[in-house]
Amino acid sequence: MAAEVKDGPATGRTLIRNVSLMFSGDLAAPVLEADCLLLDGGTIAQVGGALGADDADRTIDAGGSALCPGLIDSHCHPVFGDWTPRQNQLGWIEMGVNGGVTTLISAGEVHLPGRPKDREGVKALAIVAQKCFQNFRPSGAKVLAGAPVMELGFDEAFVAELAAAGIRHIGEIGLGTVAKGPDAARMTAWCRAHGLETIMHTGGPSIAGSHFVSRDDVLMAQPDVVSHINGGPTSIAHDHIRDLCLNATGALEVVHNGNELSALVALQAVQSADRLADLLIGTDAPAGSGVQPNGMLRMLALLSGVGGLPPEQAICLATGNIARRRNLAQGVIAVGRPADLVFLDRPEASSGRDVREALGLGDIPGIGAVMIDGKLRCGRSRSTPPAARVPV
Ligand SMILES: [Zn+2]
Repeated sequence: MAAEVKDGPATGRTLIRNVSLMFSGDLAAPVLEADCLLLDGGTIAQVGGALGADDADRTIDAGGSALCPGLIDSHCHPVFGDWTPRQNQLGWIEMGVNGGVTTLISAGEVHLPGRPKDREGVKALAIVAQKCFQNFRPSGAKVLAGAPVMELGFDEAFVAELAAAGIRHIGEIGLGTVAKGPDAARMTAWCRAHGLETIMHTGGPSIAGSHFVSRDDVLMAQPDVVSHINGGPTSIAHDHIRDLCLNATGALEVVHNGNELSALVALQAVQSADRLADLLIGTDAPAGSGVQPNGMLRMLALLSGVGGLPPEQAICLATGNIARRRNLAQGVIAVGRPADLVFLDRPEASSGRDVREALGLGDIPGIGAVMIDGKLRCGRSRSTPPAARVPV
């Protein structure tokens, strides 16, 4: 397994040239008028303009492939290392990088066998999970873990303790015994007071022992992120999804391991509510349906190919929208941002003439390379169909 301890960003200046299509990740201007990029170490230093080999220590020829920000999985469930007990699978994060994912946000380390549910245990697990993944980045992936699952009986003092220990967000409300509206509302208020981001499971129980969270529970609690509004995997009713898209104040998330029809209902609802900027994509992997290294790409293909969303906008849902709503520096191609980048193209033999058309036809793009903090972490993807053009 190609996993490694963190070793810092790239050094020196890197020129990326010959990019045919530059997706920004920013809904305000999702395609950039640029065919080159200059990186300084692990940071984007210049986008487009007159750049030559003399400006850099090394040059990457994109070979005419497209470039987009590294995908951010807004919802996953890591445990420790690059292993998941949910399916007893090794290397799932590394394969996710092959599917274009450069950042994964934990929605709770819930699959740990024997996971503790008492105060000390929950706090200790969150701290250990967060720190382990700060020190361990499978294929360079940034795993933002340490998402404690809240139980009844935890009080505001406990939330303050978590914040003081450096915990930044909690696991899905509803995975523990805090699930019903009034309990959840108390928890979101405490978290808000102490600067912790809140996310809330939406829909039927994911596995025996977890809870059903209804529209009304979500509206009462008003979490920062309405996790899998399309179910994880069992969805709430379509009119309840539409209601949340109008009245939930938090970001709205659709996941691969959810109900696909409901994801399309949510897409239409946010479009008519003019809230596309609030829609985020995640996978909810590992889950009962397994781990899908191309899960994020499949969501792009679903929303574009079936949902009719322009592909350049769909990419924003997996990058810049998440960065903005969840306070991350990565996810946008712009000066000063981390150089987390995906080289992609139409897959060989696609009916689409470029990657945008291919996605619009529901094809999964081919990935030619993935870069994290300015370092190439994988070449031609082992997850996707072959990209027609790859960087050299
Ligand atoms: Zn969930």
